[in-house]
Amino acid sequence: MDLFEYQARDVFEKHGVPVLSGIVATTPEEARAAAEQLLGASGGVVVVKAQVKTGGRGKAGGVKLARSAQEAFDRAAEILGMDIKGHAVHRVMIAAGADIAEEYYFSVLLDRSERRYLAMASVEGGMEIEQLAVERPEALARVAVDPLVGIDQAKADEIVAAAGFAPEIAAQVAGAIQKLWTVYVSEDATLVEVNPLVKTGSGEIVALDGKVTLDENAEFRHPDHAELEDKAAADPLEAKAKAAGLNYVKLDGEVGIIGNGAGLVMSTLDVVAYAGEAHGGVKPANFLDIGGGASAAVMAAGLDVILGDAQVKSVFVNVFGGITACDEVANGIVKALEILGDKETKPLVVRLDGNAVEEGRRILSEAAHPLVTLADTMDGGADKAAELANR
Ligand code: GDP
Ligand code: MN
Repeated sequence: MDLFEYQARDVFEKHGVPVLSGIVATTPEEARAAAEQLLGASGGVVVVKAQVKTGGRGKAGGVKLARSAQEAFDRAAEILGMDIKGHAVHRVMIAAGADIAEEYYFSVLLDRSERRYLAMASVEGGMEIEQLAVERPEALARVAVDPLVGIDQAKADEIVAAAGFAPEIAAQVAGAIQKLWTVYVSEDATLVEVNPLVKTGSGEIVALDGKVTLDENAEFRHPDHAELEDKAAADPLEAKAKAAGLNYVKLDGEVGIIGNGAGLVMSTLDVVAYAGEAHGGVKPANFLDIGGGASAAVMAAGLDVILGDAQVKSVFVNVFGGITACDEVANGIVKALEILGDKETKPLVVRLDGNAVEEGRRILSEAAHPLVTLADTMDGGADKAAELANR
């Protein structure tokens, strides 16, 4: 999960990273009130910053200085509602203005291929780092971080030296980097990026813009992270699936997919997309892995989510019985159809294979639900489901 800049700022502050004050506003009036609060203590300048989960806001006109509360109101009125790279601006942050002497770059991220963390730092921050990495790679220091050691004083000093920070600020920067590492570890982040990390006119080091990505696999350790989620932006079906503990991703097609095991579901998507070419170009509507041990309740929850997708015209259930045998899955489907009752209005194609397949098929044949078609093979089932979706 990516955080908004204002959320990153809050997290930085919590862990002692030097930041400036910031207040979120959703209307120009709120922006004016926030500016009134901040102007006195911030040298008469505030910055109105679009809160969108994409970079390059400055270039797109989403970061503007204001020297009075009225100016903050006007800039906020311009920025709110703007579209930045496909992201609508619903909030701005009114931040205390910084007197910037120099702009630097720092990030730490998960380097999967090296099975380590990677810290990157540059004394040429501010600009887009991708561009710097391409044009002047020597200006971007890359320092591997051993996960068992982390960024201690020695590692922070190594990063600062590699990037070539001036001696008079080296200690301060190293301190800020260690604090940013604390953010990374204690919040279970996969990315912490500061661009720019600035030196102010009075020689202070401040994190002026932050990007933080949290590891959703570690959610269970952070009940407080739930409130950071942007519920307005979440797809309602994905939110519903998440609440039910399902592994669901909404896609753009017409054939709902339920399978067990990520690999099987992925190949089911491929087979359905291929079969769809002969049936008006219908496509898979989602990814849904009900996992092993699929109970009737899980099957019902999965079907409920998929049937709630207005674009879905048919559903293909493709299950390979393993630890969960096909008879249990078949019973799950029958019970799920009972639970859903009148909500079940779309045709279902079911292909079962593997452990206890005969028994599973018998249960579904005997139930003889009018909307259920049994398929013998994965290809056959995909073709039938695509055909039904195209009617
Ligand atoms: P981004 O474009 O989305 O990365 O947004 P940033 O928050 O990094 O802001 C872009 C640029 O605006 C920075 O690199 C600074 O040059 C400038 N900027 C941001 N905040 C301030 C501020 O408080 N004072 C001044 N003078 N410039 C700022
Ligand atoms: Mn930035």
